[in-house]
Amino acid sequence: MDHHLRQISRRKFLATTGASAAASIFLKGCLGAPPEDTPGGTAASSPTANPGTGVKAGQEPEVQTAKLGYIPIVEAAPLIIAKEKGFFAKYGMPEVQVDKQANWGAARDNVKIGSQGGGIDGGQWQMPMPYLITEGLITDGKAIPMYVLAQLNTQGNGIAIAGKHQGKGLGLKLDGKKAYFDQIMAGGTRFKAAYTFPKANQEFWIRYWLAAGGIDPEQQVELLTIPASQTVADMKRGAMDAFSTGDPWPYRIVADKIGFISALTAEIWKAHPEEYFAVRKDWVDKHPKATKALLKAVMEAQQWCDNFDNRTELAKILSQRQYFGVPETVLMEPLMGKYDLGEGRKIDDKSMAVMYWKDSKGSVSYPYKSHDLWFITESVRWKFLPKEYLSKAKALIDSVNREDLWKAAAQDLGIAAADIPTSTSRGVEEFFDGVKFDPEKPEAYLNSLKIKRV
Ligand code: CA
Repeated sequence: MDHHLRQISRRKFLATTGASAAASIFLKGCLGAPPEDTPGGTAASSPTANPGTGVKAGQEPEVQTAKLGYIPIVEAAPLIIAKEKGFFAKYGMPEVQVDKQANWGAARDNVKIGSQGGGIDGGQWQMPMPYLITEGLITDGKAIPMYVLAQLNTQGNGIAIAGKHQGKGLGLKLDGKKAYFDQIMAGGTRFKAAYTFPKANQEFWIRYWLAAGGIDPEQQVELLTIPASQTVADMKRGAMDAFSTGDPWPYRIVADKIGFISALTAEIWKAHPEEYFAVRKDWVDKHPKATKALLKAVMEAQQWCDNFDNRTELAKILSQRQYFGVPETVLMEPLMGKYDLGEGRKIDDKSMAVMYWKDSKGSVSYPYKSHDLWFITESVRWKFLPKEYLSKAKALIDSVNREDLWKAAAQDLGIAAADIPTSTSRGVEEFFDGVKFDPEKPEAYLNSLKIKRV
């Protein structure tokens, strides 16, 4: 049956019976299980949005497909849900592919070649990866301009510590712990801290946490890049003392009794910016209507993911083998803001969980330019980017951050005006150590930091 007919029969069927698990089973039997209808292979993950129903006249997307990459951490949920719940199909893009990437380096390589070359058009990114790719700084000098279209989530990350450091007071605040790190150095080694991709969120969180406690991350610590799939095993065999990544991996360290969590990133910086939806500029410029459709589907998925009533189902969908391949229970607790951090520390507070649509500071999905500026400023702090980037940041951010496209899609989607930010700045940000970042004065922030390379 061709796609159009399938859509009609599906719509008719859903109209007469209501979307349900039974509908999905019936459709599978009747229509030969089209891949976009059964990506999860279970009744629980059947789409609930009717294909094409969100497309207004004149807004038909130029293409029905896009290839989007993701990494199996909670940040990816809006992309997976937009596919699983049929939101891409609803906005006229039933053929969107959401493809698991082996690691961040593979995602970067795949966006470099684009879907034309068998890669991806965009997807989930840590910051400031879309900027580094745009500038050709991590793509062997080849500049691939990208657009940041939305933020996927805030919070939802943590710093895990190996069990051998239990009882040493390595919690959120490391004040007074410098001697402990020095003692490890005196033994001829250094405290090893890992993340899955350098010079982006995860490295920033671990560096921020260490430096706030007076530990120089370049002198008293050895920083390493390790593929996510290896982190648990490496910590188990003692090759690593700490690692920084997205849920559910820190939680798994505790669940598997390998270590404990010293800090949730939500404790380091409440409602902090985390990962983003960004797509190649050439793809977006060529497909403005499809871009809007993708954005609407992602936003609708974000609203769905944000609802705690849906999070049991979200855990079930994400846990499947083709997505994260982890037990549902490992996902469920962090998604509900329940963290057993180990060392007797427990958090049971939904406001500390990963957020997808709204958090304590307002919009999650809207990509604030002030946050892109923090990531660039932090890159300058550690000399990942030369200092000139502070003066060129505004022009660069204006060329990469397409908050205007986000707003147009939000208005089209009928998002309440109160939920559409009126400023590209979220204003002054405050970290757990009292340090403040005023987006109007990034230099003042840098000056206020004790440990830095600039
Ligand atoms: Ca992350």
